[in-house]
Amino acid sequence: MTNTTPTDEELQSAAQSLRENNPSLGITKLLSQLKIDHPEWAVSEKRFKKFITPSTSSTTGTSNKSQSSKGNSSADDGLIAKTGIDPLLDISSIAPKIKVKMFNVQGKGKGLVAKEKLQVGELVWQEEPWIATNDSDLTPYLTSREMCSQCLTLFPLPNPPLSVPCKYCAEVHFCNRRCYSKAVDQGTHNDYLCAGQNRECKALLSFINQKKARDIQGVARIIAQWRRYRDLGETKKAEEVEKRVWGVMARVSQRVKEAERREWPYIAQDRLEEWRLTHLLILRALNPSNEEDPESYKSFQRFLSNKKKNIPPLSKEEEERWFSFDSFLELLGLIGLNQESSGGLYALHSHLNHNCEPNLQVRNLPKNWTPPTTLPADLPPPMTAATRGTNKISIIIKKTIHPGDELTISYVDQRLSRVERRVKLREQYGFWCGCNRCTREKKEEELAEKKEKEIN
Ligand SMILES: [Zn+2]
Ligand SMILES: [Zn+2]
Ligand SMILES: [Zn+2]
Repeated sequence: MTNTTPTDEELQSAAQSLRENNPSLGITKLLSQLKIDHPEWAVSEKRFKKFITPSTSSTTGTSNKSQSSKGNSSADDGLIAKTGIDPLLDISSIAPKIKVKMFNVQGKGKGLVAKEKLQVGELVWQEEPWIATNDSDLTPYLTSREMCSQCLTLFPLPNPPLSVPCKYCAEVHFCNRRCYSKAVDQGTHNDYLCAGQNRECKALLSFINQKKARDIQGVARIIAQWRRYRDLGETKKAEEVEKRVWGVMARVSQRVKEAERREWPYIAQDRLEEWRLTHLLILRALNPSNEEDPESYKSFQRFLSNKKKNIPPLSKEEEERWFSFDSFLELLGLIGLNQESSGGLYALHSHLNHNCEPNLQVRNLPKNWTPPTTLPADLPPPMTAATRGTNKISIIIKKTIHPGDELTISYVDQRLSRVERRVKLREQYGFWCGCNRCTREKKEEELAEKKEKEIN
């Protein structure tokens, strides 16, 4: 099923009955209710406002600010992610057999299609994350020096690791100097997020560990990567991060996304409070304010002047773009849309669209894996606990793909039922899946229902 835009009359009558039944609710809550009553409708807050009469009570909804209107969203639905082509990515050298395609369908941005036939078992490309994040299950290995903080490789046992620790905090360990310098460069463990150098990030790091807040880890690492390049005067690299984050990766405000959840009206207040607190931790670690947090500000300035003399202060635009609450929510939304569970954010992988019957497999294979030499070939066997892979992903063909076919992965567990997949995809990724499997299963369900009725 796809989104439909209700006519003015339809929306008018729905808004009227919503208002009659809920005389004191604010517009945001009513809009959430409308989305529950009419899940297929694409209605923006702006349009909805034209049809709804104000509440009779003086209080408005908890998050009744207008939705983010940054960027190019002329579309009617705030949930449609903003996305673009990545000029930094040389796809023809990473994956010569595929190309990017922009789909001119509402809600569907870019995707990848095959240039030639691809066979089962074929390796299409391999890629390391540009922002590495780790599943909280791995934290015990990371803190007990058993795993590289950058590439997530388990150090060989039983020999004690010859790993390279961080020079300043000794809390993280790396396979070698190469992984260490990558961690500094990418923000996995750069100066800003190393408690041995920037004391003000301590609270944020322990929050991430305690709350298993992987999404927040991702947001912090993106900002830290940008800020380090910017402060060191590596302008070109800072601009590249900026372009990728705000112009290329699909993103949508986390608040807009979560307003899709059925329970949103009941949790909105708590969620907003949680986000405010987390946002403050990020500010304290990466940009404390002199007015609101003078102690942290002083300590952060000392850290900065130890790094480099005369770093220019952030401009108003830089403050707004990277450190405002709205930007924080957009970064959080970006992580939610693009993060691959096994390793973080990948520049090319994030181009892949969803299908409930995907034709690709994304694998974290061991370092010694080599691609098959004859095709078609068997898919690599499932991993055992002892053969953990790294966070370099390998994209492997699962079903024969013909030229022009779109390459797809599944964003959700394929074992879920149609309805479960549907709710997850709408709430987490903002679309109703209309793939062949969903259509087929819906027909089957309707048929079974009909039969049951006939029996009774
Ligand atoms: Zn460190
Ligand atoms: Zn490593
Ligand atoms: Zn589907």
